[in-house]
Amino acid sequence: MIDRRAALAMVAAGLASPLRAAPLRYTIDPLPVARNIWVVRGKDAAIDGANGGAIANISILRTTVGTVLVDCGPSLRYGQQLKAAAEALTGMPVIRVYLTHLHPDHIYGAAAFDPSIVAVTPALARSLETLGPSFSDGMYRLLGDWMRGTEFAAPGKVLGEDHETFGDRRLDLYPLAGHSEADLAIVDNETGVLIAGDLVFHDRAPSTPHADIGRWLASLDRLGTIRHRAVIPGHGPVDSTPSAAIDQTRDWLSWLRETLDRAVAEGLDPVEAGNLPIPERFAALKAARYELQRSVAHLFSRIEEQALPRVDLKR
Ligand SMILES: [Zn+2]
Repeated sequence: MIDRRAALAMVAAGLASPLRAAPLRYTIDPLPVARNIWVVRGKDAAIDGANGGAIANISILRTTVGTVLVDCGPSLRYGQQLKAAAEALTGMPVIRVYLTHLHPDHIYGAAAFDPSIVAVTPALARSLETLGPSFSDGMYRLLGDWMRGTEFAAPGKVLGEDHETFGDRRLDLYPLAGHSEADLAIVDNETGVLIAGDLVFHDRAPSTPHADIGRWLASLDRLGTIRHRAVIPGHGPVDSTPSAAIDQTRDWLSWLRETLDRAVAEGLDPVEAGNLPIPERFAALKAARYELQRSVAHLFSRIEEQALPRVDLKR
């Protein structure tokens, strides 16, 4: 029999806590986009302990030789659940996992896969090398147990080609940049679906922690010239048209750049800039105020430096 003292000791050791939560589980619910393509929608929100970091969209493609994933979620736990759900859906093992860019909500699920099938562009491989292992620390702080066991291994496949073919399916690869140093967009030839990674957001305000807005706008122009029929954005609902989400992302980024430039020119401080009014046409964008304030934090000092060069460095 376990007496009260023994029970308390077990609780203290975390063995029998009456408050112990059920094991954390993600909801992996693939939605059809086109023939043999599905999207697992992320929450259109910030990363938090309720969503376990599952905020990015993940794409699943069935080919005649296996299953292809584009991005793989925030953690080992997510990657494992995604692998099981994707293989049950397609009846085929996962043979390729593309990572679109370095943000943690897209890549740490790679821990669930053999690194030899995880593919990145040369530019992303370089970015990931320079980040080092400490990059995941922030996610552990934010998400705690959701991240347990998540270790990021260097991807085993560096993409030298402009496309890959898996049985009946050809995927065209577009290495671009601007949302981050290295962004990959992919077009599925058969269905004309553009999988845009975080170059495109839809009805969810773009996030800018590693953004170069000028390069990002140029990449959006490039995406606009690529033949495609529909877009799976990195965040937000699928765009069943070729251009609505691309145009919305461009509109937000152009407005953001103008607004921050003007705020610096007018001498606003960061708090004032983060509280500037957001135009009515962006009312449908989730997390708009949150992302404006984060963008001020990311971009404001850089714009100030350009607008007001340091006098002590001037000759
Ligand atoms: Zn991102």
